[in-house]
Amino acid sequence: MNKQIQVAIDGPASSGKSTVAKIIASKLGLVYCDTGAMYRSVTWAALDRQVDLADQQAVAKLASQIKISFQPGTPDQRVFVDDVEVTKPIREAAVSSNVSTVAAIPAVRQAMTDQQRAIASRGGIIMDGRDIGTTVLPNAQVKIFLVASAHERAVRRYKENVAKGLDSQSLADIEAAIKLRDQKDSSRKVSPLRKADDAVELDTTSLSIDEVVSRILSIIEKSR
Ligand code: C5P
Repeated sequence: MNKQIQVAIDGPASSGKSTVAKIIASKLGLVYCDTGAMYRSVTWAALDRQVDLADQQAVAKLASQIKISFQPGTPDQRVFVDDVEVTKPIREAAVSSNVSTVAAIPAVRQAMTDQQRAIASRGGIIMDGRDIGTTVLPNAQVKIFLVASAHERAVRRYKENVAKGLDSQSLADIEAAIKLRDQKDSSRKVSPLRKADDAVELDTTSLSIDEVVSRILSIIEKSR
């Protein structure tokens, strides 16, 4: 396997990107980078420090000041903002419902994109997000765009939340929140959620995780 390979996985909220990216990373010995966790970390820090999210300059300043880092963990990678572990709080509804506002701030995106490219420059990488194939790693050898119906994605997220003991949002609320986040992520001016022209689109609505993984592995195999 070419250790320098770059694999970009984009798609809307809860389309299964991180689940399959983690499995493929461990099968192929690639570093996994969850870029959504980075935008969530900035949002968590802004809420924690009571920075007004409408004050784009203040949020961007905060984004450039905090240090976001990852450590291996099961089932999720552990995420830290400076020395504080935020693995769990960044998945809570307060962060999920505000993250698209923070991620639409151009200077926040620039700061995150710079960090993501620095991580990717160290070696073989699989990175998931919204703009990896279009903006962060436009030369990635493999680009995948995962889609699934909003209802299926809400059901998956609901089950995940229950399994993780996270706050008890109803299925209908989760579906509404997912649709709203997709709409905001797709319509922002800078690096909106969009399939790169050279990405392969995979509809995972009726596929198992194993099926998605094996399809992506064969796409990677063919790209070598
Ligand atoms: O992937 P996840 O759902 O955790 O991402 C959370 C949010 O972070 C997205 O809804 C989007 O607003 C933002 N994001 C982004 N660009 C990325 C990854 C995530 O704007 N590359």
